[in-house]
Amino acid sequence: MTSKTPINDSSSIFAVTIDGPAGSGKSTMARTLAKKIHATMVDTGAMYRTVTAKVIDTGQDPEDEEAVAKVARGIQIYFAGEDSTRTMADGVDVSTRIRRPDVNSLVSKISAYPLVRQEMTRLQRKMAEGVRVVMEGRDTGSVVLPSARFKFFLVAGPSVRAERRRLEMAQAGDNTRREEVLAEIMARDQMDSQRATSPLVKPEGAVEIDTSQLDIDEVLERMLLLIVSDGCDAP
Ligand code: C5P
Repeated sequence: MTSKTPINDSSSIFAVTIDGPAGSGKSTMARTLAKKIHATMVDTGAMYRTVTAKVIDTGQDPEDEEAVAKVARGIQIYFAGEDSTRTMADGVDVSTRIRRPDVNSLVSKISAYPLVRQEMTRLQRKMAEGVRVVMEGRDTGSVVLPSARFKFFLVAGPSVRAERRRLEMAQAGDNTRREEVLAEIMARDQMDSQRATSPLVKPEGAVEIDTSQLDIDEVLERMLLLIVSDGCDAP
């Protein structure tokens, strides 16, 4: 994906984008908001994770952008299950696989490849076509759906973000220490913010919400306030 990639995101009937760094609450809020406004949720991070897991599991060389792009083009990714929260790859549920440490460590490298981003962006726009969508990630408001009706940018302090991630991982049976989780998300944030193609940025026109001191209902309330005050009958 380069800045010259044509923008063709006008076919979504109602799009909300939620971007931000790891652990800022994007996935939780996207899921909660999508449920509330009866929208399809698209977790774009899960898509980059799925490509990364397949690169690892099929023994591809992660340094070889063309080989990695071939994986990205050849894989069928979609979301299934209640609230579209299960990630499917070629008919297999990979939701647990894509949260493992080997994927955490490699995903920012894989997602920095322009050829991979080009393919994922194409797929993400297709998923948004003709539906009401809540899409979350790093570049959904800036690159994937720049004409989205509402754009949010979530932030939170590093220790809050690390603790959220640690809790999530602990619930999945992984007892990684908070210091290690913090180091991992800081490394990813740095790579995601500094890459040349579609870096993590606050999209133009996005409303920033610091979720450090807010619970899910409070963040939801702020989002809905904006959506309703704009005259949308979404909820
Ligand atoms: O959101 P999550 O933490 O699951 O994202 C995993 C990784 O996928 C990010 O650290 C980033 O490298 C990549 N990503 C991206 N663009 C997006 C969403 C995620 O590059 N829109």
